[in-house]
Amino acid sequence: MDAMKLAMEERDYAMQARCLASLGDIHRSRKDVEKAHSKYEASWSQAGEIGDHVCQLYILMGLIKIFMSSREFEKANEAAARGLEVGSGIGSKIHVLRCHWFLYQLYMNSEERTLSQDHAKKFDGLLRELQLYCGVCHDVIGKQKDNVYVMECCHIYHSKCVENSAFRSKGCPNCKISSGLFSKPFSV
Ligand SMILES: [Zn+2]
Ligand SMILES: [Zn+2]
Repeated sequence: MDAMKLAMEERDYAMQARCLASLGDIHRSRKDVEKAHSKYEASWSQAGEIGDHVCQLYILMGLIKIFMSSREFEKANEAAARGLEVGSGIGSKIHVLRCHWFLYQLYMNSEERTLSQDHAKKFDGLLRELQLYCGVCHDVIGKQKDNVYVMECCHIYHSKCVENSAFRSKGCPNCKISSGLFSKPFSV
């Protein structure tokens, strides 16, 4: 909150936008969807004005998670498509990866197999390219033919590491916020 006050006094719009987005996240984690929405919205227009696309991606990820959990799949789809656009525009591969993941899930859900497979393939290729490290065994993901788990928070681990370790019940070892798994093992 102090950071927000300082940003207001200094007319630091970039900082204001990011503070508002984090406030949105805080409300989202408290399941106060209405407040989360209003903070994200305020942040979105600030970020838009100064062209802070990274902040916009951050907001979109939060919105997708809200829409997924309230089962507003059409809105989630819209936000993910927008995220793909913004992420590709600034070359943020990690956000593009996440959006492909969300779109894969959403199209699976609506039984649009071709579209879902299309996003699965793109997720696959990008995951290999990014050479992400697994937070449990610290080995590269996608080096061999691995099965991976994508957590609700978007962190990705080998499925063998998820299954072997105790964090299944404790949630993601990286951010500790999310519990439960978002997906079945996904083969890369
Ligand atoms: Zn691992
Ligand atoms: Zn996480």
